[in-house]
Amino acid sequence: MSSLPKDAPILVTGAGGFIGGHLLAQLKAEGYTRLRGADIKPLDHWFQRIEGVDSRSLDLREKQACREAAEGMAYIYNFACDMGGMGFIEVHKAECMLSVLINTHMLMAAREFGARRFLYSSSACVYAADKQTDTHVTALVESDAYPAMPEDGYGWEKLFSERMCRHFSEDFGLETRVVRFHNVYGPWGTYDGGREKAPAAICRKVISAKLAGKNDIEIWGDGLQTRSFMYIDDCLHGVRSIMEGDFSQPINVGSSELVTVNQLVDIVEKIAGVTLRRSYNLDAPKGVRGRNSDNSLIRKVLGWEPSTRLEDGMAQTYRWIHDMLTGPEPKNRFTI
Ligand code: NAD
Repeated sequence: MSSLPKDAPILVTGAGGFIGGHLLAQLKAEGYTRLRGADIKPLDHWFQRIEGVDSRSLDLREKQACREAAEGMAYIYNFACDMGGMGFIEVHKAECMLSVLINTHMLMAAREFGARRFLYSSSACVYAADKQTDTHVTALVESDAYPAMPEDGYGWEKLFSERMCRHFSEDFGLETRVVRFHNVYGPWGTYDGGREKAPAAICRKVISAKLAGKNDIEIWGDGLQTRSFMYIDDCLHGVRSIMEGDFSQPINVGSSELVTVNQLVDIVEKIAGVTLRRSYNLDAPKGVRGRNSDNSLIRKVLGWEPSTRLEDGMAQTYRWIHDMLTGPEPKNRFTI
């Protein structure tokens, strides 16, 4: 699939996390030889640690750490970010905004060391809140980010950093790419601890209920809020294609299969073979009322869009979380 030579020096930041770990695992499996990963977490806390990858524990809010990570690297995927699901970002706005230090210093380091491409992982949270007030959504097109009224904290940081990529490109000639992910899910992601997102949280709750012989599940909000969810394999395909292609404006990378949260629970219940009694916590963080990805642009640019069926991706995710909850320690790390 890739047009890059196997000895291309590639840096993935946030490599100890969900998407970064998967990307490095895929690149390694394809035979790439000069891979580097960086993450603030100690190495033994990375979700995936891949043998043969130059893995470094670095706090990329620091300029010097970004220099160390970027030196000699031609392609930089910048996934490092202090983030989580709504349960995290609604109550950690300042921490979310401090990720601007990561993106600022990574861009500066990429420029200093002459990186050929820099990809920034933005989010659907950049979209204006007033376009997401109804469950019957009109899918979001890229231009809906302006006039700006993004998600407070996390979304503002993303929008600002997108803008910084644009100006590093215009003023300094650094080739940047900006992807706006819409809810990514899959194995080897966060599934507990407060940063998990709805697909993993619902799998965990259903599995826990089943294991405990209980019949109840608590759902955040009224269950009618709508979203789309992209499986990790689609995410990787999209992000690599954008990195290697010519399109340099912000672009949606997300699924357009819209479901309500209740429908997401239906899917997980079907996989688990259970039916639970649902209670709705209307005070819990729930985010915007409805959101979907308009994929016209990505179809035009790549002739492709994410297409893994939610049922299929959730079956994989469910199985993995089930193994994590029932298997031997350590629960969330491995080395290949
Ligand atoms: P993740 O939390 O699993 O990974 C992010 C990683 O960044 C973590 O391992 C974390 O330790 C690391 N990090 C945080 N602060 C750091 C620092 N100061 N220095 C170095 N590393 C640091 O998240 P993810 O799901 O893999 O997301 C990757 C990127 O994609 C993020 O930028 C995120 O905002 C974006 N994104 C993800 C989703 C999604 O649904 N997963 C949706 C939209 C955007």
